[in-house]
Amino acid sequence: MPRPRLLSDRVCAFPDCSALFRPLESSHRYCSPFCWYEDRRRHAIASLSQRLWERVQRCPHGDCLYCCWPWLGTTNKLGYGILKAARQMFFAHRIAYSSVHRRAIPSGLLACHHCDNPPCCNGDHLFLGTKRDNYDDAHKKGRTVFPMPLHGMNNPAAKLPYEQVHMIRVAAESGMLQRNIAQDFAISQTTVSDIVRGRRRKQG
Ligand SMILES: [Zn+2]
Ligand SMILES: [Zn+2]
Ligand SMILES: [Zn+2]
Repeated sequence: MPRPRLLSDRVCAFPDCSALFRPLESSHRYCSPFCWYEDRRRHAIASLSQRLWERVQRCPHGDCLYCCWPWLGTTNKLGYGILKAARQMFFAHRIAYSSVHRRAIPSGLLACHHCDNPPCCNGDHLFLGTKRDNYDDAHKKGRTVFPMPLHGMNNPAAKLPYEQVHMIRVAAESGMLQRNIAQDFAISQTTVSDIVRGRRRKQG
């Protein structure tokens, strides 16, 4: 029988642990199955946003207020994108919200769609709300001709319907001066510039 080799102590590879332990095999990097699992789980969750953007179809306009960015991977019955990591399911649009707005979604809150398009992962089409807000929003949209894809009521671009936002973009892309676009649409040049640049308004 081969005698077991004695290995020297090493530091557990899970950053929150970093305990010294004596490995039984040279390949052992964690002091316990718990540390191994936790470290893998964290990496899987940390890589979610990268995995998300690899499968989202973004438009060519940069940070865009107008276009929806659909998740192209698996969806649930209601059409919401889903990703799996560490045996957990995650909603694509919720990861998109956290990734774009650089904040975690507080527990109990939903990431709601201004655009009513479940697979959409455009951060500018997502807002935080309660279940009640989500219901009110849907109800309101039943009577609204144009859904508003913008955050914030003090954002002048939020008052413009989708179609106009799109026309302003097209006009700017065709080389029309922002000053002239502003005159045509009877809005300020700042608003035109915000729309053209697809300026992102952060909440909170
Ligand atoms: Zn450990
Ligand atoms: Zn776009
Ligand atoms: Zn959308």
